[in-house]
Amino acid sequence: MADHSWSTSANPTYRVLIIGCGLAGLAAAIGIRRVGHEVTILEKAAELQELGAGINVSPNGTLIFREWGILDAIKDKANIPYAASMRSYKDSFQLFSQPLGRQMEELYSAPYLVIHRADLHSVLVQEADRLEIAIHLDSHFTRINFSDPSVELSNGKTYDADIILGADGERSACRDALLGYNIPSQDSGDHVFRITVKASDVAQHKDLMELVQPPCVNLWVGPGANAITYALKRDGLLNVVLTCAHDISKTIQHGPRRVEIHEAREAFGKWDDKFQTLLSLAQGCTKWTLLQTPEALYWTHPDGKFALLGDSAHAMLPYLGQGAAVAFEDAAVLGTLFSKVQHKSQLPDILSIYERLRKPRTTALRSRSQAMRDVYAFDDGPLQQERDRQLQHHAPFDGFPNFLADPVLQKSMFSYNAIDEAEKAWDTYLRGEWPSTRGMWNVVSREA
Ligand SMILES: Cc1cc2nc3c(=O)[nH]c(=O)nc-3n(C[C@H](O)[C@H](O)[C@H](O)COP(=O)(O)OP(=O)(O)OC[C@H]3O[C@@H](n4cnc5c(N)ncnc54)[C@H](O)[C@@H]3O)c2cc1C
Repeated sequence: MADHSWSTSANPTYRVLIIGCGLAGLAAAIGIRRVGHEVTILEKAAELQELGAGINVSPNGTLIFREWGILDAIKDKANIPYAASMRSYKDSFQLFSQPLGRQMEELYSAPYLVIHRADLHSVLVQEADRLEIAIHLDSHFTRINFSDPSVELSNGKTYDADIILGADGERSACRDALLGYNIPSQDSGDHVFRITVKASDVAQHKDLMELVQPPCVNLWVGPGANAITYALKRDGLLNVVLTCAHDISKTIQHGPRRVEIHEAREAFGKWDDKFQTLLSLAQGCTKWTLLQTPEALYWTHPDGKFALLGDSAHAMLPYLGQGAAVAFEDAAVLGTLFSKVQHKSQLPDILSIYERLRKPRTTALRSRSQAMRDVYAFDDGPLQQERDRQLQHHAPFDGFPNFLADPVLQKSMFSYNAIDEAEKAWDTYLRGEWPSTRGMWNVVSREA
């Protein structure tokens, strides 16, 4: 017999259609299904997959998974790094080390973990299956009707719903349909190399041993470039991601393309010997252009039956490691608000509350991430010297050049409890104080 124990709500149920089965779409589906609504995901890919290797999931994300009862399944496939070190490209000298493991748990009551994307995705898919969320593959949407919510697919099928959510990623067609014009994703000025290295190969080199044992995050900074490594549980891999400035006029490479490792070696040729040893262990290398997409002016349709989430709403540069974490926050906010709905006429208010609650936070994180890029990429000279001096000789302060240690930024990112924030917003709404909503007082009279 099916387990319906997740369905806690005595409120009416609505049909929610989600476009995109990436981390954002899946998380939103789980958040909303858990509170009893009927959820269908439409995914254009013919099979479910999550491209790439590792991802950091910070406490503002993991606390949501704990609330949803799937944190243990995720932790089983994850590593909990004990610290994050920031190093100089010249000699791999450790400029700063920020404790993670136990300290994050103590401060935020939730872990900071690193996991292979495919593993995180598979735990979410498993949970979606358990919750009986319908996932339709090979379902490429081409048109949305916003007022009488329905979606047309390229194969001619149509789906209708009470609410549609667009989670189709950074180059979002949902966003274009909502705004009525195309926001082009631009070249950020950086490209990314992702390299596959076996942690066991790394461990055989005495001077590289500290990269894998105990598990920790290492971030090297150098002129116009940075590199991050952390060990993943899956396949004993060391996740190595190199980011490097390039001539912006070059053609955009959307998504990873296999390249010879010598391209990365050339780009990072001036980095120290230890780093060169690491590159010599590479078994494969992919490369793509890092995109930068202006944020959509608004995320919800004025008819109140459609909203964007995840990268389609607020894609950001990866330098704070927050892109997916804030998508999980979106999902938790939507799930919490959907648990409250007592009447269909409240659905537009729910989306309005969601956007007003979420947008200022993601806008701020987008701009901090951009600023972080610049700090990591200083050329050798006075700014770099001052950055390194602060890292080595100052206690962390507001604006500290290591974002993980910046006491103000760290707290604002990691202590954010999306579920509590949505609860507070709902209370404000109930008092008739949430801006641009129609209030609770005439719920029954609004719709037959
Ligand atoms: C180098 C790098 C490192 C990063 N590191 C971190 C990190 O450490 N921590 C972190 O929190 N974030 C990180 N991020 C950000 C994170 O990867 C993204 O924010 C997150 O994966 C976005 O998920 P999404 O579901 O919104 O989009 P996507 O993963 O792009 O998913 C969109 C889905 O929609 C589907 N789709 C697209 N068009 C259609 C259509 N027309 N019809 C139907 N389906 C469609 C796609 O096939 C896809 O499955 C990083 C990003 C980069 C680039």
